[in-house]
Amino acid sequence: MNALDTALQKSFPSVMVPRSEAVEPMTAYGERLLIAANGIWLEVLRPWIRVVRRVARYDAPTAIPYGDVAESTELLCGAIPAEHVSAFYQIARAALPNEAGAWIVWNRHTRQFRTVPLPSLSHGPGHLRYERPVLDEGESVVVDCHSHGSGAAFFSRTDNDDDRHDVKLALVLGHCERAPSVAFRLCVKGIFDEKQGGIPETWRVALDSEVTA
Ligand SMILES: [Zn+2]
Repeated sequence: MNALDTALQKSFPSVMVPRSEAVEPMTAYGERLLIAANGIWLEVLRPWIRVVRRVARYDAPTAIPYGDVAESTELLCGAIPAEHVSAFYQIARAALPNEAGAWIVWNRHTRQFRTVPLPSLSHGPGHLRYERPVLDEGESVVVDCHSHGSGAAFFSRTDNDDDRHDVKLALVLGHCERAPSVAFRLCVKGIFDEKQGGIPETWRVALDSEVTA
């Protein structure tokens, strides 16, 4: 086969899921398709997360002699400490009436998190453009945070466009002058998963204590 397709297929292979044993784990960071009896699944491995989501079902009841796959999400970085979400809320409140952004990043060597404020290029209510900070070797963006100033938290069409190619958690804080409204989702290469029902309880407690402080 030609060099271009060989390289493309090597970077994004398809795997036939066996029926009588587990599928071989991924050995390198990247993504692959799992062809299973119960559909076609995307598996993504990053230093901080392993995630499997179904991307297609079959149109015909053809018997597929492969095994089944189940949806899964493993946070390899562990729980994200609430103090970083509090730190972003303080950044967002300080930026009012403008929007603000920050990344919560995780270093796979030190296993530490840190909050990286995003320096904005153009800054005004309803508008945020920023220069992407350079991360240290071994760091990954885990939570991409931005605020909607004093407006409500939700994922706008612009947010959907921005998040379409990434693998990350996305957090929006709104109503930043008071107890903030929150929108939160997992983004995996065009899949947006909001169904876990809001932010972790520790984050909510931390945000509430910031408001009353
Ligand atoms: Zn937004």
